[in-house]
This record gives sequence, structure tokens and C-alpha cells, in this order.
Amino acid sequence: ASVFAGIAQAPEDPILGVTVAFNKDPSPVKVNLGVGAYRTEEGKPLMLINDPSRYKEYLPITGLAEFNKLSAKLIFGADSPAIQENRVVTVQCLSGTGSLRVGGEFLAKHYHEHTIYIPTPTWGNHPKIFTLAGLTARTYRYYDPATRGLDFNGLVEDLSSAPLGSIVLLHACAHNPTGVDPTVDQWEKIRQLMRSKSLLPFFDSAYQGFASGSLDKDAQPVRMFVADGGELLMAQSYAKNMGLYGERVGALSIVCGSADVAVRVESQLKLVIRPMYSSPPLHGPSVVATILRDSEMFNEWTVELKAMADRIISMRQQLFDALKSRGTPGDWSHIIKQIGMFTFTGLNSEQVAFMRQEYHIYMTSDGRISMAGLNMKNLPHLADAIHAAVTK
Ligand code: PMP
Repeated sequence: ASVFAGIAQAPEDPILGVTVAFNKDPSPVKVNLGVGAYRTEEGKPLMLINDPSRYKEYLPITGLAEFNKLSAKLIFGADSPAIQENRVVTVQCLSGTGSLRVGGEFLAKHYHEHTIYIPTPTWGNHPKIFTLAGLTARTYRYYDPATRGLDFNGLVEDLSSAPLGSIVLLHACAHNPTGVDPTVDQWEKIRQLMRSKSLLPFFDSAYQGFASGSLDKDAQPVRMFVADGGELLMAQSYAKNMGLYGERVGALSIVCGSADVAVRVESQLKLVIRPMYSSPPLHGPSVVATILRDSEMFNEWTVELKAMADRIISMRQQLFDALKSRGTPGDWSHIIKQIGMFTFTGLNSEQVAFMRQEYHIYMTSDGRISMAGLNMKNLPHLADAIHAAVTK
């Protein structure tokens, strides 16, 4: 007998469960396009940096101070007025997920409006993170399946009718899972609309540098919102752009209206973090700070980042070409138009199941494939599978 006997079996996570199934598959031709982790042309993880082993004392509740400063500079820009005016508070958190969760808990405790609007679709963890943090998640229209692009009118309509002061989750760049981002022009309209309705932006930046290959370009939408003097939250992850997935390195920044508000906000963030995990890990942020503080290493990193982004872009072109040469029915130009790590193929869950069954190709059931998992060797196999799934 067990006191836990009544507990039901929980389903696998919709994204991480794809890898669980993949690992169980004995097929030699199997391909894992489920998880968004960068892979080389050889299908191997890329080690970006060496290990600066050092002492192992506890960090403060807010993490490594130098890491926090450098992280704010990286996303907001070295010349950001908000940083110069000491209006930015940054705390090191457990990668992007932890940053979102700490930000969510802070808002649930200290912000007057508890509704957060998230795009449809969005990263599957978003609604769970914010709901468990004590917020109420609602959705705004984002992706239009008909055009496989942005539903800009739907987005504007939904944000226009959101209650004054609502929180709005925005993907800073390389929207996951769709690979569809607003243009600079559209961002400017979103900014004006949100500021006019006092909607509070909560940016999620998990792919800075991965969308365009340029760190500054990918941060441009965020910087537009900081430049107007308004407030916002920012969750940063170094999982993808520094290849530090398992080290769990990220940061939450809150851009405040004034320096004295920032001081008080930081004091309250500490009260959120302390009972949750006390203090963050040391190794990952030390690696990040080592790279960000040194101009030579920083430049090396940007070259590697660009190479990763370019390899993904070239996989897009080759997959598009491969489908074209097979005469696969349908318009596949969205594969080239979408950006970042993922392509939202438009394949339905039946086709996804067929491709797993018959071709040992693993992706999430919404038809999202991680372009980083593709290479010259497995790409023809994927094209064959898509062709078969579409023409069956
Ligand atoms: N936000 C988005 C949109 C993501 O795609 C991810 C990674 N899959 C994250 C946040 C956070 O990931 P991590 O906690 O590993 O930094």
C-alpha cells in the first residue's frame, strides 16, 4: 500500500517527451527534430567555450553581479539610457524558464493586473509557468495558418480589447514555435498600441543572435520599447546562443520608471527568489561573464553565433529545394521565410504520426521541426518523409 496510490500517471511533456520516444526507437535512420537544441552538420552538440573552473562559494540571492550588468547591456545595448539612469534591475535566474517564473511570481505579488496575454500558439511551457506563478493566462491571436505568417490584424484587435494594464508576453525574436516575427514597422505599431493602453510588456528572449545572426539586430524590438522610457520585464536565456543548455543560465531584468523604484523592486525580487531556490548556480554565469567582458572572446562568440544562424538558414533553403525537386504539392516558401530555430511546417498531427511511424522522424505534434537538427545527410530523408506524408 502507498499513501500515493491514488496518483494518476501524468502524460509526457509535449516537447521533452518527443526525445523520450526518440531515445527508445532502435531505428538507424531515426532523426530527432523535436527539441530546439543546436546540432552541427555531424548532428553533434556544439561546444562553444572552455570551462573556467573556479571557486564554488554561494552567490548572492540575485546572482553574479557582473553577469547581471553584462546581460542587461547585451539585450538593452551598451548605451541604453535606462541602464545609465540606474532604472534597470537584473537578477540571475535559472535560464529562460526560471526568469519567466520569477518575473511571473513578482507580478502576481506586486502588480495590480493579474492577466497575462500570450500569443497563439506559443511555447507550450508559457501558460503553465504563468498560471502556477499566480497569473491568469489569456491568449492573443498571432499566427495565421492560412498565410503561415503573422495575423497582425488579429493581434491588434485582441490587444486593443485587453483590459487596461494587462501584461503581454512578447517573443523578442525567433518566435517559438512559428518562426514568424513582426516587421520593425509592425513592432512600432504594437509598441504604440501597448503604451497607449498601459499594457505591460514581458519580453521572452531565448534566441538573441539566432534569428538574424546579429545580437543587436535581434534586440531591436526590445530596445524600441526601452527607448520610449516605459517600463517592461525581460527574461533572457543563454541556453541556445551560448550553448549552455544544461547550465541553466539566464537573467530577469525589470526596467523601472526611476532608480528608486528599481532599488525597491530588487529588494522584493529577493523575497521571491530566496524561498524558491535561495541562490542561483555559479558556473554558468562565470562562463558567460568571461566571454562578455573580453572583447576578443566576445567577437569570437559572435562569429560562432553567426555560423549557427547561417547553417540553419542554409538548411531552410535546402529543405525548400528538396521539396521542390520532389514536386511535393503545396507552397513551402514559409520554410525560407520563417526565422530562428524552428519551422512551423503546417503538417498536421496525423502526418506527424505517419512520419514517426514510417520514417522514424520525431517532431512535436503541432508540426514544428527544429531546423538545427537537420544536416546534409538526414535532409533528403526528411524531404522524402514530408513528400510521402503529403501525397499519401
Ligand atoms: N522561451 C522560449 C520561447 C523558448 O523556446 C525556450 C526554450 N525552449 C525558453 C523560453 C527557455 O528555455 P530555457 O529555460 O532552457 O532557457
